[in-house]
Amino acid sequence: MSRRPLIAGNWKMFKSRAEALAFAERLRQELAVAGAAEVAICPPYTSLDVVAGALAGSGVGVFGQNGHAATDGAHTGEIAMAMLVDAGATGVLLGHSERRADNNETDQALAAKVPAALAAGLTPVLCVGESEFERDTGTTKSVLDRQVLEGLSGVARGDFGKVVVAYEPIWAIGTGKSATPEIAQEAHGWIRAQLREICADEADDMRLLYGGSVKPENAAELLAQPDIDGALVGGASLDADSLLAIAAAAS
Ligand code: PEP
Repeated sequence: MSRRPLIAGNWKMFKSRAEALAFAERLRQELAVAGAAEVAICPPYTSLDVVAGALAGSGVGVFGQNGHAATDGAHTGEIAMAMLVDAGATGVLLGHSERRADNNETDQALAAKVPAALAAGLTPVLCVGESEFERDTGTTKSVLDRQVLEGLSGVARGDFGKVVVAYEPIWAIGTGKSATPEIAQEAHGWIRAQLREICADEADDMRLLYGGSVKPENAAELLAQPDIDGALVGGASLDADSLLAIAAAAS
């Protein structure tokens, strides 16, 4: 079993097309220093095509930040998985906590979205994680169980190895308060154990990313944990130097 680290930069609702292009061109030139980790950028929809064009053939992934389960239809404001592919995407974030909070994204909806992403040939990154209240009241593991088991309930045997799960404790996202390596590893180890229950032969191939205030200063010790196979990076991914440093720490 060897899992190639994945460092994915979630740009959220930041960067114009011109800014995205300049960043992608810089990444393309400098990625040689980052070494063996796989890198992916998750730009807003409007910049998917420019980022994909600038990074074509570089091996850097381009991920959407959401996708709809339906192939097309009357869903104003939504985007189909095939449309992400058409714009140059190779993967998609699903169930980010900001979408669960702002757009009422449910585990049931995600159960349909993950296989839809796989059917379109995208790498799905299912985001899970507990709130501060859930951690304080001792329900972290049951929250993770529900999100992982329901979110992956539509995945067919043989496809689990293509799915990435990102553990992002909500209390650590955008707060500057990262989980300690021990807390993050405990959650990742728990998720891996649950995955072994549902897909024993594929669980050790699945990459589990940690997300929540990852920065160059704390990346190496988080990424050194046995069940942490990369990072989903928000704020620090908006700066090319920071993202490159985190990718280097993963290599
Ligand atoms: C995120 O948005 O997925 C995230 C982890 O953000 P940040 O790194 O800023 O905490």
